[in-house]
Amino acid sequence: MANIELRAVHKSYGAVPVIRNVDLEVREGEFCVFVGPSGCGKSTLLRMIAGLEDISGGELLIGGQRMNDVRPARRGVAMVFQSYALFPHLSVYDNLAFGMKLAKVDEATVRRKVDEAARVLHLSHLLDRKPKALSGGQRQRVAIGRAIVREPGVFLFDEPLSNLDAALRVQTRFEIAKIHRDFGRASTVYVTHDQVEAMTLADRILLLNAGEAVLKEGSVAQCGSPLELYHRPRNRFVAGFIGSPQMNFLPGTLVAAEAGQATVRLDSGETLLACVDARRLAAGARVTVGVRPEHTEPGTATQHIARPLQWQERLGESTYLYLDSGQPEQPLVVKAPGHVYAAAGQRIALSLPAPALHLFDDQGLALERSVPVADLLLPQAA
Ligand code: ADP
Ligand code: MG
Repeated sequence: MANIELRAVHKSYGAVPVIRNVDLEVREGEFCVFVGPSGCGKSTLLRMIAGLEDISGGELLIGGQRMNDVRPARRGVAMVFQSYALFPHLSVYDNLAFGMKLAKVDEATVRRKVDEAARVLHLSHLLDRKPKALSGGQRQRVAIGRAIVREPGVFLFDEPLSNLDAALRVQTRFEIAKIHRDFGRASTVYVTHDQVEAMTLADRILLLNAGEAVLKEGSVAQCGSPLELYHRPRNRFVAGFIGSPQMNFLPGTLVAAEAGQATVRLDSGETLLACVDARRLAAGARVTVGVRPEHTEPGTATQHIARPLQWQERLGESTYLYLDSGQPEQPLVVKAPGHVYAAAGQRIALSLPAPALHLFDDQGLALERSVPVADLLLPQAA
């Protein structure tokens, strides 16, 4: 087990910067997920930790040792890829044993470690099979097993579930979490573009900015616990990336800001109160109200807005209502209980409770929410 430190890490391909100024410590035993849209540099950052890419600037330390120029094999890391990269001509047993045999580990130890990994990964009955006789999920478990038997201080995963179908993805995700819990809790960095994987697996999430955007602040959009990113996104990008369906954004103007409470007039005319401290802005400032589909509900119990229904999706456990927001191509999405059914064109009244609202300034930066922290279940401050 070892911690990983990135200090002002930078990566360019030629003149093109891909990773800018990443500072991060992955603590011993921590499960850290790098997430972000395709092309934002997640794999590049992971491969720099593994030693498969040079580091253009900054420092990488593993277990307190500077690793910038250390060969991959000497970093004490094991990596699992999306493509399983198994040896097709070797049995599952020999795939698992390969690295140890190469390192001349004695036969009895090899067998013990392979058997233990196979037991944890439910592969014991498949040890004689070749990879082509395995399902995708089983192949990925062999790839994970090959990393486990090396007993690395650091586990690195690059989108290990992407090739699996939906049901298997959920099951394997659960198994990866269990392995982390049961198998000595190696420090883990896990790359995915899927925010659900990030939310369910991570102790801490590092959300990277979209690759193309040239942003002053560097590559990191936000780093924190899953619920911190969900409840206190630092900016509109984070707010939109975490959560599904996406957060709704409604443009408006700040009318008044008091301690812990802001009044906003939407461009569509309604006035809303939000539990947000907006005192750093002047009245009249342009703002955007954010509200998650699961935090709005049909009804007029609290402050509400009314909009015509454009479309709905009935999923059984819930119904998604798509309302006309007044902005083209940007319906206002409501997650309603599954029994809700509305006729097309019907005007739906929607309550927008003040504690559920987020507020962003004209740069897209979040204003501080004043909802009691206990209600937001914020664990382990960084
Ligand atoms: P992600 O894993 O988040 O999808 P990558 O780390 O693979 O993103 O890539 C980040 C960016 O770096 C992309 O814009 C990609 O085109 C670019 N890139 C990756 N590898 C190279 C390379 N060898 N040469 C030039 N550009 C590269
Ligand atoms: Mg990638």
